[in-house]
Amino acid sequence: MTKPDIDASKLTITLTQTPKELLDQSELKFGKYFTDHMLCIKYTEENGWEAPEIKPYGPLAIDPAAFALNYSVQAFEGTKAYRAADGTINLFRPEKNLQRLASSSQRIMLPEFDQEQFLECIKELVKVDQRFVPNDYGYSMYIRPNFIGTEPNLNLVYSREALLYVYLSPVGPYFPRTVKLFANAIEARAWPGGVGSFKLGGNYAPSMRPAMDVVSKGYDQILWLLGDDHYVTEVGTMNFFVFWVNADGEKELVTAPLDGIILPGVTRDSLLALARQWGEFKVSERKITMPEVVTALEEGRVLEAFGAGTACIVCSVSEVFYEGQNLAIPVDPTDPDAVYGPLTKRLRAELLDIQYAKTPSSWSVPLV
Ligand SMILES: *Cc1c(COP(=O)(O)O)cnc(C)c1O
Repeated sequence: MTKPDIDASKLTITLTQTPKELLDQSELKFGKYFTDHMLCIKYTEENGWEAPEIKPYGPLAIDPAAFALNYSVQAFEGTKAYRAADGTINLFRPEKNLQRLASSSQRIMLPEFDQEQFLECIKELVKVDQRFVPNDYGYSMYIRPNFIGTEPNLNLVYSREALLYVYLSPVGPYFPRTVKLFANAIEARAWPGGVGSFKLGGNYAPSMRPAMDVVSKGYDQILWLLGDDHYVTEVGTMNFFVFWVNADGEKELVTAPLDGIILPGVTRDSLLALARQWGEFKVSERKITMPEVVTALEEGRVLEAFGAGTACIVCSVSEVFYEGQNLAIPVDPTDPDAVYGPLTKRLRAELLDIQYAKTPSSWSVPLV
């Protein structure tokens, strides 16, 4: 007999006795304020997936010897719910996040789960806490699924018990400004044969010290270069794009390929699809190196560079520190105060319009 999978029809809901006060939208800081409820679904190898539960947000009881706490058996996701002008709430391509969670969790021997049934449970959670979904354009509800190995066992086998849980954080618009990156070729976030393409907590802890080092030098984030040729991979929370006239004289939007090094961003995929639909310039997923970018900058061929991810959507890069030099990246030559380059701005506007259901799209998934 096959073990039970996640079954949304078995979902139970226990509402909080102490509902929180809604914060004023202006006080929303990214990832610091959580809603009233969370979704928890337990798994054991013996009995499969248990009935999903929505219950008051609060601490988890975890055995101190759990796999997640000793060996970082943890995968996570980040997606958002957006309130449209008519009040309805939509998720943005949530199935992409659940496919990625399945792929990340398989890499660390966490069990498979029914993605559609899990999505139904997530929709219920957002419905239960829908009073927290902000109204204004630019604001949204960040959704954080976590998947952890909970079996208490110090042996390096795999966790035969797991917990899939989801909590919500209403978030404000990302402060619109350009970012300054520090190109790091000394340390590596990911490498061939490694796990850079999976959203695993274990990838992030080791990036914190290098990231804080560059913050103390006045930069926002690291641009991770890999190997002796200084392959331009990504930013670590964002995928990285360059819009330039390439060495062959073609106008091209280029980003690193899905070669196992970079995280396959949903924002990345969406922007590539939009730019390909326009058909106005070449759109490439291919390896570029930092020396190629430097040459292009010297020859005035770089038009814009930007980072892309769920948290900020897109943000223009105005500076990259590389090999002892600050390289200025053009943002918008017609406007010295611009925070977005023209292409970055257009991509951002088209994506926001889909997310807030101004533009009808199959990428928008309504709650009901
Ligand atoms: C989550 C993440 C991104 C962005 O992915 P989105 O799906 O667009 O949010 C990029 N790089 C890394 C390393 C990430 O963890």
